[in-house]
Amino acid sequence: MSSLKVYNSYTRRKDVFESITPGHVGIYVCGPTVSGESHLGHARPYITFDVIYRYLMHLGYKVRYVRNITDAGHFEEEGREAEDKIAKKAVIEKLEPMELVQKYTNLFHWAMRALNNIDPSIEPAATGHIVEQITMIQQIMSEGYAYEVNGSVYFDVLKFAENYTYGKLSGRILEDLLETTRDLEGQDEKKNKQDFALWKSAPPEHLMRWQSPWGEGFPGWHIECSAMSTKYLGKQFDIHGGGMDLQFPHHESEIAQSTICNKHLPARYWIHNNMITVNGRKMGKSYNNQIRLTEMFSGNHPLLERAYSPMTIRFFILQTHYRSTLDFGNDALHAAEKGLKRLWEAYDALQKIQGVNETADDKALDEKVRRQILEMDAFMSDDFHTAKVLANMFDLAPVINSIKDKHIPPSAISKGTMELLQSYFKNYLENILGLKDETSADDGKLSGALELLIQIRKDAKGRKDYATSDKIRNQLHELGILIKDERDGNMSYTFA
Ligand code: ZN
Repeated sequence: MSSLKVYNSYTRRKDVFESITPGHVGIYVCGPTVSGESHLGHARPYITFDVIYRYLMHLGYKVRYVRNITDAGHFEEEGREAEDKIAKKAVIEKLEPMELVQKYTNLFHWAMRALNNIDPSIEPAATGHIVEQITMIQQIMSEGYAYEVNGSVYFDVLKFAENYTYGKLSGRILEDLLETTRDLEGQDEKKNKQDFALWKSAPPEHLMRWQSPWGEGFPGWHIECSAMSTKYLGKQFDIHGGGMDLQFPHHESEIAQSTICNKHLPARYWIHNNMITVNGRKMGKSYNNQIRLTEMFSGNHPLLERAYSPMTIRFFILQTHYRSTLDFGNDALHAAEKGLKRLWEAYDALQKIQGVNETADDKALDEKVRRQILEMDAFMSDDFHTAKVLANMFDLAPVINSIKDKHIPPSAISKGTMELLQSYFKNYLENILGLKDETSADDGKLSGALELLIQIRKDAKGRKDYATSDKIRNQLHELGILIKDERDGNMSYTFA
């Protein structure tokens, strides 16, 4: 169907992509843990895989894109807190766990649509697939690769490693794991430090709990992705995606589970996007540089000079190849905003060009333009190189503008080349890269107007004019726009 090549993290090389069922592609991408608001770190994987999804469809594949919602007992195997994040936050905010899950799921969906990501074909939630997870755990136990201790079930990693390859995806070896695995809750229960939980017995204060053959408890994080990917895509599917930080332990554990249950590696191609840094630093709570998407869109974060539109963020992410690191900073975002504006201007100019002839007067220019257009497909088919596609579009933009401004006569290039240019600009910008022109859409104006209202409200509060500040808050609330007063005096808004 195509000569698409993808970098496969499992084989560590670019492999020619061949789907299991001709004409169809099954892709599974690890979704968000909905225990908090989506931040910048969530934007990159979901934009990356949205473009991959769009490009596969552009190539003519029928794609089933499955992206889960982690809403049950996800505790970090390697994290500092080996506890159920969702339940913990629920107690703090005095909410039902599912109320919290719903709130953050809604916010996640809102952010994804603002970034113009197409909804996945299926978005299964872990809490809706407890039965499937228990069944899979029972299968692993019956094969002899899991054991129960005090109502919890653990996967026996050492036994697995004796009979199968372990650690190939992440490049970790068992001895390394011994040294790097920290002491966690349940450590004394496990046979070996490397073992991971498939099911955890729930302590009395734990809110989210389900009946199981081992007593009341909740599933481990890794088993949900194995259970749901198998259910919706089969024992082996085409592509498994996620951020590089998920290679270990999450994806390595998925591989072990599926190898025992399904007698197959879960996916043929593993695609991982690289991480985002902020001003050169890794994102993390301790650095206070985890910028939420609502803060990006409103500009209400100490690290932001102003608001950045969803399309600026999308464009900025796509200007770098997904396997390279990407550093967020105000200067780079300003530049991205300008760059995107330039491309839309060229796109508009293209529609207005007249007086093109059948044959080109300037054969060399015609040839160059044609080559740069056709290269765009080659770049995308070479591991989805959006950065090179955009570089070619930037090269073509001044040519387009010069033709529009008559510095170059329209007759310089042929009618065929001009038509190719028009259709490629449209198809790439709108369909494959998924960008929207915010200068003509409402989005940009709306956020600008909201910023203005927030500023007026801040000023009103500053001079203790509470009647005005309350009026702005209440009337926006009636329109479904919630203004939140932050502790530092800043304000942010979300859409209800
Ligand atoms: Zn996952």
